[in-house]
Amino acid sequence: MNKPVFFNTLGRKKEPFEPIDGKLARFYSCGPTVYNYAHIGNLRAYIFSDILKRSLIYNNIRVKHVMNITDVGHLTSDADEGEDKMEKGAQREGKTVWEIADHYTQSFKEDIAKLNILEPDIWCKATEHIEEQIAQVKKLEENGLTYKTSDGIYFDTSKLDDYRKLSGQNTEDLKAGARVEMGEKKNPTDFALWKFSPKDHKRAMEWDSPWGVGFPGWHLECSAMSIKYLGDQFDIHTGGIDHIQVHHSNEIAQAEGSTGKKPWVKFWMHGEFLVLDKGKMAKSGENFIILKTLEDKGFDPLVYRYMCLTAHYRQQLTFSWDALETAKNGFERIKTKILDLKQQKAPNADSPATMSKHEATFLAAINDDLNMPKALAALWDMLKDDSLSGEKRRMLAERFDEILGLSIKEIGTDSIPDEILTLADQRQIARENKDWATSDSIRDDIKSKGYIVDDIKDRYTLRKA
Ligand SMILES: [Zn+2]
Repeated sequence: MNKPVFFNTLGRKKEPFEPIDGKLARFYSCGPTVYNYAHIGNLRAYIFSDILKRSLIYNNIRVKHVMNITDVGHLTSDADEGEDKMEKGAQREGKTVWEIADHYTQSFKEDIAKLNILEPDIWCKATEHIEEQIAQVKKLEENGLTYKTSDGIYFDTSKLDDYRKLSGQNTEDLKAGARVEMGEKKNPTDFALWKFSPKDHKRAMEWDSPWGVGFPGWHLECSAMSIKYLGDQFDIHTGGIDHIQVHHSNEIAQAEGSTGKKPWVKFWMHGEFLVLDKGKMAKSGENFIILKTLEDKGFDPLVYRYMCLTAHYRQQLTFSWDALETAKNGFERIKTKILDLKQQKAPNADSPATMSKHEATFLAAINDDLNMPKALAALWDMLKDDSLSGEKRRMLAERFDEILGLSIKEIGTDSIPDEILTLADQRQIARENKDWATSDSIRDDIKSKGYIVDDIKDRYTLRKA
């Protein structure tokens, strides 16, 4: 079996993947900040990490997957400035910050379940790991990598000669980028490890520390918790491409700066953005699209998952309602085909060689840096291969679905009521008699009762609308 090859942001090239210890792939994904619903752009990143995880399992590699929940009120910008997101959410909804965190954590878990995203082996909350975060700052302090300002403890990035190794960015690019609010910082890329609570205001979430009452900087939790659960060095870290330059560069600085072990993470993998055909995905208003927005318009969440599979994770995907409708049609065609294969009784002479050929084509697409558009094409080629029996094709589709996660096994398993089956039979007789008026009216009747009949040559299939 060929080895998976993944694009590693660290080094910017495709590399064959093998777990560091040869057995277990230790894998960390940056999780949600739970002060609001995840929008579908956020969810695309989790569909990507789910495909990655499923592909490792498919390759018989055991996986230990950890995901954090950012429930600490950190600040709204990378520059350690701005309002506290959790406190802002609490004010908006008249709840405590803890209630806000619980509510949105729950809704995030419901969203990923609806999208068939496998849960991580370990969920970890930032607020339950304050001790580990303080310990990491102490280590960095001992290693001479920190300094104190009037508002907190900062990481001195000038002490590292490889701070920009993940972003590949040079000082010139940085100058050309957004204006950096320096405050008392020594270097533009320095960042807060621990922030002091303001003297005149008690924060809803604050903790004691060796440096005074305050709260952790927002990059700290990921390096502290991933090391706790996955060790000083591990295999894969995922996130959105917007995290490369600041969040992930800072995570590396903290982890390698505290343990002294390099590289902290072997493979960094980043998912591209979901973009809207009109403007950016926003946190509010018309451009704030969450999974429920899709459901309210009658779309199955798995249609969105399917849509994400039609683009490579390193390519931007443009979302529009038309594009979602197209994805729905594509997904429906697969469902109809599978249903057809389930109802096909005629035995074909199956060739094991043909089955292995289809499996190999599918796996080659997956193992080529998760090329899902190619994998979907391989699924279609296999479904249309009449040299294989319906049963064998269905079996292969279910095997492929271990990665696709489209609930292929469940297609058509809902039992269809006798009344509907009788109507469909009557309609079939009308069709055979070329009585199109009756056939059409029975089709409408069936539809009004919540079922759809699809004609395939001289047969038909039934499914729930
Ligand atoms: Zn993170």
